[in-house]
Amino acid sequence: MTTTRFAPSPTGYIHVGNLRTALMNYLIARKSGGTFILRIDDTDPERSKEAYVDALKEDLEWLGLTWDRVERQSQRLDQYHEAADKLREMGRFYEAFETPTELDLKRKKQLNMGRPPVYDRAALALTEAERDAFRAERGAGVWRFKLNQNRIEWNDGVLGDISIDAASVSDPVLIRGDGQVLYTLASVVDDTEMGVTHVVRGSDHVTNTATQIQIIEALGGTVPSFAHHSLLTGPQGESLSKRLGTLSLRDLRAQGVEPMALLSLMARLGSADPVELRTDMAELIDGFDIGRFGSAPTKFDVADLFPLTGRLIAARDYACVAGQIAALGVPEADAEQFWAVMRENITVMSDLEAWWTLCRDGAEPVIDDEDQEFVTEAMALLPARPWDATTWGTWTAAVKEQTGRNGRGLFMPLRKALTGQAHGPDMGQLLPLLQTVRAK
Ligand code: GLU
Repeated sequence: MTTTRFAPSPTGYIHVGNLRTALMNYLIARKSGGTFILRIDDTDPERSKEAYVDALKEDLEWLGLTWDRVERQSQRLDQYHEAADKLREMGRFYEAFETPTELDLKRKKQLNMGRPPVYDRAALALTEAERDAFRAERGAGVWRFKLNQNRIEWNDGVLGDISIDAASVSDPVLIRGDGQVLYTLASVVDDTEMGVTHVVRGSDHVTNTATQIQIIEALGGTVPSFAHHSLLTGPQGESLSKRLGTLSLRDLRAQGVEPMALLSLMARLGSADPVELRTDMAELIDGFDIGRFGSAPTKFDVADLFPLTGRLIAARDYACVAGQIAALGVPEADAEQFWAVMRENITVMSDLEAWWTLCRDGAEPVIDDEDQEFVTEAMALLPARPWDATTWGTWTAAVKEQTGRNGRGLFMPLRKALTGQAHGPDMGQLLPLLQTVRAK
């Protein structure tokens, strides 16, 4: 049975980059009727915050990415220490005492000599007495996993065949000097014990995957299928890493982006298939295939989310939005008509507010100098209320008759006088909704 997981570290709000990972894992699980685990990677007690755990759950719920169960790494420390003991017994785990400064110096020396900056395993040569001396002087060391220096290979669901020379990778630190278990060990133990079959994550994890494969094998686990999606860049190919903070899911929600607009885009961006707007999660699941994604960096433009959102909104029936329209204060008698007029003319639902204010209070008229007289003349001909769908036609026919104007020269000044702007809904439909007209 397929089991996937989304494993955010609760150290900030989740953003579009994380969403790609979450969505792909979710879709793979749902497509095969499997299990989708939300795993909170909170082994770092200083940086992990409960508020971020709540926030990320709220964000995923907003999107409808429901999980089958939650796991928390902070509650599984015993399991990680058990695995560490196992690695120690096997002779694959060793304590090292270099300070960050010493490691840095070693790296610089290696680079100067044109060698890759790989940890030199000096700690492996320490005698028991030397280790004791270091412990007395510096406290407990870090624990490194001793890689087998062969090639690590896997067939990646996005990148294809990957082969990494383990000798070019430093033995990873799995436990810090203060005893904190690091992500690499925790992740491997979880993936193995929770029966994770497919791991999809960003391509910044490719080297981690190489080392994790060896750790899984050492612990006797089954290596899952790995797929690494490409990283997102800005529209011009620029790095998004600094801007991701402003592309949090909650920001997008606050800007009025609709969940299915965001999901429709992210389920296809960077794949060989075109983006198709879906209104239904089942269709999204059906149309997803990770094998269609490419390894090239994927350009993401937040602006693309708005036309998609606008299209979703325009397709919405009155019944879906009646509550929101009533909340604006639109009288019941006008509410359905208000929606019929506005749905094609807004991008996000909050645009309705300005339109309703305009209908209720009228707009400050915009009248060009050469139209002053014309508008005054026209306003004098405006029929008395009540207005209906025929009023605009009757009125403008009379205005045309009296002033001799027609086409754009007739309609545009009237639109601008009544709505204060050059664009907007069909005037014939809008006029009956105008409770107040300020032009005279
Ligand atoms: N907590 C890790 C991250 O957010 C999880 C990576 C993984 O999926 O293994 O980068």
